[in-house]
Amino acid sequence: MFFKQIALACATVMAASAAPAAEQTLNIYSARHYPTDEALYANFTKATGIRINRVDSDDAGILARLKAEGTASPADVILLVDAARLWKGEIEGLFQPIKSKPLDDAIPQQLRGKGATEGGTPWFGFSTRARIVVYDKATVQKADVDSYEALAEPKNKGRLCIRSGSHPYNLSLFGAVMEHLGEARTQVWLKGLVDNMARSPKGGDTDQIKAVAAGECAIAVTNTYYLARLMRSDKPEDKATMARLGIVFPNQSSWGTHVNIAGGAVARYAKNPANAVKFLEYLATPAAQAHFADGNNEWPVAKGVKINNEALQAMSGGSFKSETIPVSVIGMNQIKVQQMLDRVGFR
Ligand code: FE
Repeated sequence: MFFKQIALACATVMAASAAPAAEQTLNIYSARHYPTDEALYANFTKATGIRINRVDSDDAGILARLKAEGTASPADVILLVDAARLWKGEIEGLFQPIKSKPLDDAIPQQLRGKGATEGGTPWFGFSTRARIVVYDKATVQKADVDSYEALAEPKNKGRLCIRSGSHPYNLSLFGAVMEHLGEARTQVWLKGLVDNMARSPKGGDTDQIKAVAAGECAIAVTNTYYLARLMRSDKPEDKATMARLGIVFPNQSSWGTHVNIAGGAVARYAKNPANAVKFLEYLATPAAQAHFADGNNEWPVAKGVKINNEALQAMSGGSFKSETIPVSVIGMNQIKVQQMLDRVGFR
């Protein structure tokens, strides 16, 4: 009771002085569709007293909303789950440059927006997810699917399940492949994927994995955290699914497995920019970084963060070779990739 009174007294003093209560809030527009993030937000509020208001949508919905709201937008922090969408937000001028030594120190260069002329960094990646391949161990050899290129080879005809080509996770994978293979070879490769499909694209990544377990196809492409969810599940049907699957991190003997990011930015017209930077700095702390792994099965981006996720360890054998291209080039390649998809009929 005594402490409560002190807290109330302090609050009264703060309200009476120059700091209105409204300054201690933070408005986040988030595309992170993961229930385990609730603890991440709650811990920030507990540590700082800053109350979080959240608007949830997908990447495209958030960018459209920011544009429509313009200078009146209440958004402070933008959290997106795809490098190309972060890049799009950057070039459309929806973010403001961030100057932060903790972020500069913690986040690797290739996992940030460039913004060199802006006097700061437009966005930072805070976690990574690999886009990998699972296959039916009964009918497919690991060597048949150990590279993205192999998925398009005739030996895999009629085997492939993959979600829509226009989904950001695939657009970014294809944008990365274009960076590695060049434009001409990438279009041939995309045509090969279409030729090898067991069915027209439908559903999300988890649906592709389950389609392999159901025998509808023999190979699927998925983000690692969806697979990790199934690996950590106690449900008998999920255990049965996993028992049937082999897992490949493609291109270990060449340019490495494609890795996408989830990242954050400060909104161009943020009303609470200092709190926004504080929140992003919090996401780079060891505790928050570990939470990305332990809660949502993503890899932390900061070095030396100890994670405690057996599924991530098991699927990757502890570590894997990931591609090293700057994630911002993935965004730059998207328009060309979308044109190729139209040409080869990958919907
Ligand atoms: Fe997702």
